[in-house]
Amino acid sequence: MKKLSSKIWSLIILFLVITVVFMSLFTNFLYDQLYVKDSEESMIEVGERLQSNYQGGKVTDEFVEKVEDFNMYSTFNVFAVRNPKELSACVPFEIDYDTLIGPEERRQLLKGEPITKIGYEERFEREVISVIVPLTDQNRLEGIIYLYYPLARITELANNEVIILISSVVVFSMLLAFFVHKGLGHIMRPLNELQHAVEKMSDGDYKTRVNVSSKDEIGKLSEAFNEMAAAIQSEDEDKKTFLATVSHELRTPISYVKGYSEAIQNNFIEGKEKDDAIQLIHREANRMERLTNELLQLAHSNRDQEKIDVYPMVISETIRESVDLLKNQSKHKEVEINLELDDSLIVQANEEKLKQIFINVIENSIRYSNKKSLIYILLKASGGNAVIEINDQGIGIPKDDLPYITEPFYRVNKARSRADGGSGLGLSIVKDLVKQHNGKLLIDSELGKGTYVTITIPLMEEL
Ligand code: ADP
Repeated sequence: MKKLSSKIWSLIILFLVITVVFMSLFTNFLYDQLYVKDSEESMIEVGERLQSNYQGGKVTDEFVEKVEDFNMYSTFNVFAVRNPKELSACVPFEIDYDTLIGPEERRQLLKGEPITKIGYEERFEREVISVIVPLTDQNRLEGIIYLYYPLARITELANNEVIILISSVVVFSMLLAFFVHKGLGHIMRPLNELQHAVEKMSDGDYKTRVNVSSKDEIGKLSEAFNEMAAAIQSEDEDKKTFLATVSHELRTPISYVKGYSEAIQNNFIEGKEKDDAIQLIHREANRMERLTNELLQLAHSNRDQEKIDVYPMVISETIRESVDLLKNQSKHKEVEINLELDDSLIVQANEEKLKQIFINVIENSIRYSNKKSLIYILLKASGGNAVIEINDQGIGIPKDDLPYITEPFYRVNKARSRADGGSGLGLSIVKDLVKQHNGKLLIDSELGKGTYVTITIPLMEEL
């Protein structure tokens, strides 16, 4: 987290440095272009004007005086000399004639063109610009007009402005630092909050949520985090209730088995009572076996991402086999099962699982039917699906319970279902298995009249 803010800070400082460098280069450019060039141009202009007063021949004292008179009106120092070597007598600083006017400059002067020099003078402690305008007559250098002007330093030029500039840079930087600090705090706060929340989550505190204070990317991230946290929390709660229910379901048979086996061991019960107790222990052990089997099935069927092995199957055969397996139970209840099956329907399915679906549903129909009643099982094709309808004339399911009966451990009448050996897991397994076959499970019921279970499974596509 620290790293992100220091990255932003470095970017801003880099930006400031670039701006300052650019500004100073730009100011130097302006100084050079506007001030120095401008001074040079006016000096040349003045020099050339004075030059035009020269009519050739020897440079007269009168001309020299006239030029010097000009000093009174001009910001530049101007004077004329006949011999350039006299220059050093006229200026308040050292002049080395040879370096001032070398052969190249001499040639230029003889052509009548002015020359410009800029050099640092210790006497003035600043740069001095000087312009030399030639006085020529028939290719002879009769004299020169010399103009010089000590240039103001860039800092002097903009003395006040520089102070204003520096102080505004300082104020600006402070303001910038303040706002960046505020802004960064604003950006980093939700990120820090998120980090803490994630840490809490990984410690198992699924109740953690973060504030969503903006609509930007970070706000979206916080929102997504909250949704994820809610999903994990609900899954965690589901898991806890599921485990609590499983332990609860096991506790009753275990306490029966424990109690009766202790009674037998200590010879507290004899004869018929003892036989009944052994039968009860046997029944409870069966119940536990069934419960653990169903839990195992549920665990398997829950992994619906897992691909199941499917192959083409005549679905009516599987239904018949399932009914056959439940013969004893239906006979026991004197329930008649009526089959009306289309034998031409083929689906892609896993035989084991398909059988499990039918056994669970038909077993329920028998279990919750009244003695000597009828169960109809119909198999037909409809809209590219195999539709299996299982209809009983049993006790039915109250409307309020219908939405929940496919949830694990949900039973309409706990006492009765327990006596029937039901665990409330059957339909939740069926729901998962049907889903694995890309099918649908629909349950409708009328209390006291009967229940309709409709299962749809896609027919195998004809080649
Ligand atoms: P169980 O093992 O208890 O039968 P299921 O998940 O198969 O569990 O069914 C859940 C509950 O739905 C049952 O306890 C029962 O109350 C109700 N139920 C299921 N099928 C029927 C049916 N054909 N007729 C009436 N009630 C049914």
